[in-house]
Amino acid sequence: MAEARPKWALVVHGGAGVIARSDLKPEQEAAYRQGVAEAAEAGAAVLRGGGTAVDAVEAAVRRLEENPLFNAGRGAVFTAEGRNELDASIMEGRSLKAGAVAGVTRTRSPIGLARRVMERSAHVFLIGDGADAFSKAQGLEQVEPGWFFTEGRWKALERELGKQGLPIPPRPPGAAEAANEAAALAHDEGKRGTVGAVAVDTRGDVAAATSTGGTTAKRWGRVGDSPIIGAGTYASNRSCAVSATGTGEYFIRLTVAREICALVEHKGMGLQAAADQVVQKDLTAIDGDGGVIAVAPDGDMAWSYNTSGMYRARIGEGQPLVVGIYKDEP
Ligand code: ASP
Repeated sequence: MAEARPKWALVVHGGAGVIARSDLKPEQEAAYRQGVAEAAEAGAAVLRGGGTAVDAVEAAVRRLEENPLFNAGRGAVFTAEGRNELDASIMEGRSLKAGAVAGVTRTRSPIGLARRVMERSAHVFLIGDGADAFSKAQGLEQVEPGWFFTEGRWKALERELGKQGLPIPPRPPGAAEAANEAAALAHDEGKRGTVGAVAVDTRGDVAAATSTGGTTAKRWGRVGDSPIIGAGTYASNRSCAVSATGTGEYFIRLTVAREICALVEHKGMGLQAAADQVVQKDLTAIDGDGGVIAVAPDGDMAWSYNTSGMYRARIGEGQPLVVGIYKDEP
């Protein structure tokens, strides 16, 4: 009997946080649902056509980076100095190849840059000016810093700096023109957010990708979990692919993404049980908050979060698109 072909599957998230039904206006809610649905469809189109998991997660994350509602690429949160410093990472489960960047300021698609690091450099992780220079040398699209600007994120920065008693920096050049209508619907999920995707393709290869602006009013070159392989992102064909969102400091300490995969690989735990163990128990025990999405090589999909909401969508071969925001949704 011929072996069953693996089924493709893909899950995306647009960040976890304080997202209550009463907080979102109907048009805001609709815009977020549409945002994650479009990203999931972009990734699913790649997989349906026989494309690779790594192409699928990159396609999905690029969509979310372009969408100003989400804290990644355009629409990213600001540092205390009024800059957008972007972090991203990507990993391929078959080869265990990975690429990551932190603190980049001019690359239109940070996830595209992370992929270049994975495929065109001898390294895994590049930061700051060096990462910006590598991006330019690779011919990736560069934008003025004002391109990432949205009014809502700037207001959130002003509020946060006010609370901390820190001075308000000048707006980045080009800011006013860049602010647009879609961004007016952005919700402040408690100073942060992140986007990510995980996928398995029809060869049974898994991949994960994560991209973020980090946390509002971050200082001193702060970097969260999102670009750290093993913390915010991990993929191995021996277990699963995971992308995380939440207060990065806690995810780093628990190496959340790798821990979930390790429970699957070494303890034989099911994907959902492993994700729940790390998010609902381990993360909650150290007062961390956030969530994860995961897929396994057999097409199993999971999500788990300990916040009131997480923007999310999943789709698989022969399975309908499922979109959710709140806890009481499937
Ligand atoms: N994990 C991101 C960070 O700490 C933020 C988030 O996902 O909400 O930078």
